[in-house]
Amino acid sequence: MLNIVLFGPPGAGKGTQSERLIEKYGLVHLSTGDLFRYHLKHETELGILAKTYMDQGHLVPDEVTINMLKAAVLEQDEPKGFIFDGFPRTNPQASALDELLTELHTQITLMLGLEVEEEELKTRLKQRALNSGRSDDADPEIIANRIAVYHRETAPVKDYYASQNKYVAIDGIGSIDAITARLFAAIDSRT
Ligand code: ADP
Repeated sequence: MLNIVLFGPPGAGKGTQSERLIEKYGLVHLSTGDLFRYHLKHETELGILAKTYMDQGHLVPDEVTINMLKAAVLEQDEPKGFIFDGFPRTNPQASALDELLTELHTQITLMLGLEVEEEELKTRLKQRALNSGRSDDADPEIIANRIAVYHRETAPVKDYYASQNKYVAIDGIGSIDAITARLFAAIDSRT
């Protein structure tokens, strides 16, 4: 199986690039942000709980997030592999994912980290707010919070995979196609 973690700060382009990767490699795309938004839309108990955190730009608690992600993985019938987008975002989430994949006799192949500087991220999120309808994109204070949470809680996850020799940095600046080509090259050179 090919299991990829697509990593990077909010606005780095994970969603856009995920679409390219699933198409080429036939992977199942699991975005915890999308899963939370699905629950929110359907007003499930999980969605209502998640909203209180998402609206502030905070992380949803690990236990809730991990359980939701596990269920989504186990639901798949003979997947070729996964692309994890927006997960893991903390070290406990990363070790829970390792445990789950070990149970399934597989593992993470690579973490691809889209690297984009902060000013560019803010510009992109402001632009996305115009058509995403996401309230967490519209407010500069919430955006700043998400970026702060990224630095504090999520950035260490990079070291988790780097210590397993699985982290590959990808320059996230340039055209969408150019960045896709960098991602494909990184995957193809490691598989
Ligand atoms: P972005 O990366 O653009 O900020 P996402 O769509 O990945 O947005 O996530 C939106 C929100 O959903 C996050 O700000 C957070 O509140 C919640 N969320 C998503 N993934 C996780 C996760 N792995 N752990 C905890 N909270 C999460």
